Amino acid sequence: MSDQKLATKALHAGHDTTQTLGTRAVPIYQSTSYVFDNTDHAANLFSLAELGFIYTRLNNPTNDILQKRLAAIEGGIGAVVFASGTAAISTGLLTLLKAGDHIVASSSLYGGTYNLLNVTLPRLGISTTFVDASDPESFGRAVKENTRAFFVESLGNPKLDVLDLEGISREAKAAKVPFIVDNTVATPALLNPIKFGADIVIHSLTKYIGGQGNSLGGVIIDAGNFDWANGNFPEFTEPSAGYHGLVYHEALGNASYTFKLILEGLRDFGGAMSPFNAFQIIQGLETLPVRIKQHSENALDLAKWLENRKEVAWVNYPGLDSSPYKDLADKYLPKGQSGIVTFGIEGGFEAAKKFTDATEIFSLLANIGDTKSLIIHPASTTHQQLTIEQQADAGVSQDLIRLSVGIENIDDLKADLENAFKSL
Ligand SMILES: *Cc1c(COP(=O)(O)O)cnc(C)c1O
Repeated sequence: MSDQKLATKALHAGHDTTQTLGTRAVPIYQSTSYVFDNTDHAANLFSLAELGFIYTRLNNPTNDILQKRLAAIEGGIGAVVFASGTAAISTGLLTLLKAGDHIVASSSLYGGTYNLLNVTLPRLGISTTFVDASDPESFGRAVKENTRAFFVESLGNPKLDVLDLEGISREAKAAKVPFIVDNTVATPALLNPIKFGADIVIHSLTKYIGGQGNSLGGVIIDAGNFDWANGNFPEFTEPSAGYHGLVYHEALGNASYTFKLILEGLRDFGGAMSPFNAFQIIQGLETLPVRIKQHSENALDLAKWLENRKEVAWVNYPGLDSSPYKDLADKYLPKGQSGIVTFGIEGGFEAAKKFTDATEIFSLLANIGDTKSLIIHPASTTHQQLTIEQQADAGVSQDLIRLSVGIENIDDLKADLENAFKSL
């Protein structure tokens, strides 16, 4: 499997048809629990002497196929799926960190993640320093004695900054902390952060991977490269009170984090994915490589078209020659730069609202990565709870409109935006 190319893995990885009565499609195993052969078998499963299904909050055969497929596609040793991207991020961090620990994060993050790091985790004693991610060394400079993770988005939403992952991963290695990359906007079809030094990759499966705006989901993929015995993570090297004395690193080696996500993260926080959603997301994943190509083509075409409009003050898309991130995009996203385009409209906040209200094919809603085109004005919606300064750090100006360009015919998309311009 590991030698196959992405488009093949997206269709086949993780599914052994001999294990599913020959079904060519991945079946939905809609069951909460699994019959044990006898009490010894059950005891072995609980003690990890044998691996198998116990209860769907921990794992499920449909979810497991999705996990194996995503791990294969991102180049990890294991993956764990969650009820949403946010459940993956919060459980991923809470499984790793404790009160007193510190994170260094890019200031250009998805609004929900920013709030988790800026408001909610500090309440639990976990603090974050936000840094300018365009300078990899700013991560190293922000490291403290209690720093235990770096967190970034490979292609920031909605700033669309392409990060120098190799540079930041060098700083993470020097600090002996795991480098966590949210790869949602770039998708594994365009960028594999593990190749550039990421230790942990996270996706909201709700976006391009599910791809059709019908199911929430999230995943954590473990590269299996991080040394949990480096002295910074005693929870991995000392007997775990949470799992009858298990010493994760001794028993599970480089799969320690993957297992901790299941045995403690899912068991205690409970953010499990429904097998029905896993099925839906598998349908999406199978066509990700062809869809993302069309998303990227349409987005680049529209971005160029917008650059030539007099009503438009500026356009941001990493594939444009005018983008400050063009060189990084050439290195990290040579196959396409995904489907998000942002632009500023002459007339600022009010004109942006009016334009956003006037489109018909572009639906006004808070999501990205749907096959259907979407539009939003972040300053009045997704980012309204941030101060103007925090909005600016996240790359949100008052005049900014965010498009999630779908895979409709490009001429129809241009005609829709043309009509919205006329309404101004
Ligand atoms: C949407 C999104 C999330 C959160 O995912 P949900 O599935 O909505 O919980 C996290 N990161 C990024 C970059 C996103 O776009």
